[in-house]
Amino acid sequence: MSGKICQECRKAFKPSRKSQRFCSVRCGNRQRDRQRRHRASSPGTAIPKAAAAEAPALKTHDSTVARFAAVQVESRKLDSLQTKLRTQSENLDHLEAEISEQRATISDLRGELVRLRVNQETDAHDLIHLAGRLLALGQTTGVELDNATKDLFRRRGWTTAARQTEARR
Ligand SMILES: [Zn+2]
Repeated sequence: MSGKICQECRKAFKPSRKSQRFCSVRCGNRQRDRQRRHRASSPGTAIPKAAAAEAPALKTHDSTVARFAAVQVESRKLDSLQTKLRTQSENLDHLEAEISEQRATISDLRGELVRLRVNQETDAHDLIHLAGRLLALGQTTGVELDNATKDLFRRRGWTTAARQTEARR
């Protein structure tokens, strides 16, 4: 039996030509249709399908480039903000140093003020003491004070009372 197996339906048949692969025209058409469908669905074979397949790939590429550009912009913004922050931090350090310098100056001036007040009080006490002694001496010796000194005593409010206060010490 010189039969063949149909490549479509797998049944044995008697070929009328040597090259015959199918039992019938119907089986030949079926296989041809299936192969056409298969080629159409595989990428890169059928032209319209390939173009359709490349479009989304291009779109994806474009959106990736766009996203990368956006990230670069954000990165540059971040860099500039970091630079600003660094500058402001340096300014703050500078201001802090100035403030601590000025605090030291203020503290020095306060100390100076206290010293000057103490000196002034000492001077005032010494002068009141001398004035009292001068008044007492004038009274015991009977020597009258000159007018300029009298004026000075009046201006300062150093009266006999002041002298008496000094005398009691
Ligand atoms: Zn067949």
